[in-house]
Amino acid sequence: MAAARGRVLCLFDVDGTLTPARQVARRAGALGLTGGRGPRAAGPSLCCRLRPQPLLPLQKIEPEVDAFLRELRQRVHIGVVGGSDYAKIAEQLGDGDEVIDKFDYVFAENGTVQYKNGQLVSKQAIQDHLGEELLQDLINFCLNYMALLKLPKKRGTFIEFRNGMLNISPIGRSCTPEERIEFSELDKKERIREKFVAALQREFAGKGLRFSRGGMISFDVFPEGWDKRYCLNVLDDERFDTIHFFGNETTPVSTPQSPHTQPLSLLHGAAPSHVS
Ligand SMILES: [Mg+2]
Repeated sequence: MAAARGRVLCLFDVDGTLTPARQVARRAGALGLTGGRGPRAAGPSLCCRLRPQPLLPLQKIEPEVDAFLRELRQRVHIGVVGGSDYAKIAEQLGDGDEVIDKFDYVFAENGTVQYKNGQLVSKQAIQDHLGEELLQDLINFCLNYMALLKLPKKRGTFIEFRNGMLNISPIGRSCTPEERIEFSELDKKERIREKFVAALQREFAGKGLRFSRGGMISFDVFPEGWDKRYCLNVLDDERFDTIHFFGNETTPVSTPQSPHTQPLSLLHGAAPSHVS
């Protein structure tokens, strides 16, 4: 199988790339196949430019994107890497557990949960890496900080504990799409998340933590190196010649790099939005 499809992997981000961002969705996923030669243009010359789409209440992968990926998989290996947990990625990209059969690789929670050829390979846990003491200091600091914030709305699930990260949301993840937009607009003006992250960076300097804005209402906290590049540790053993990464938010800071076997990883993406 590997020989038939060459040693090329196309690796896709999920939210805002293969599908609309969760809850506040963009029409037709965000994988705008503009300016290329369409799905038949797969292979090393593949280049997709991402274009903004109008807002619609839709979150699942569009049939045409799904069909494009099926066709692409005839030519190269394909994988997904998302910040959400496996259940959310599976829901966005298919029905039931279809996702692990549609893709050669599924990396959930930034690659800390790894599936290959339909099988769970391994899973890492943030509490094992950070230790309980630092983890609780971090959670307690966030709860204290958010307790002092006055916002137009506050809802529930302010801290979502995932395998590879904590997702922190000052408004709370259980807000409605309208409340999400309201918070996002306020955040643009008052830089609520940016200030929150700056406070965390000061408090936890030198503790090996990284912070990254996640969508419109939250940011992620994770150990150094546990961003979307983490999945490259697993891919090192797979000996691909080239890995193309497609994401709606790519920056030189988040460029996948491998210390070992990948000679080159190519990025295709749009607007940068890393907090750090
Ligand atoms: Mg994205």
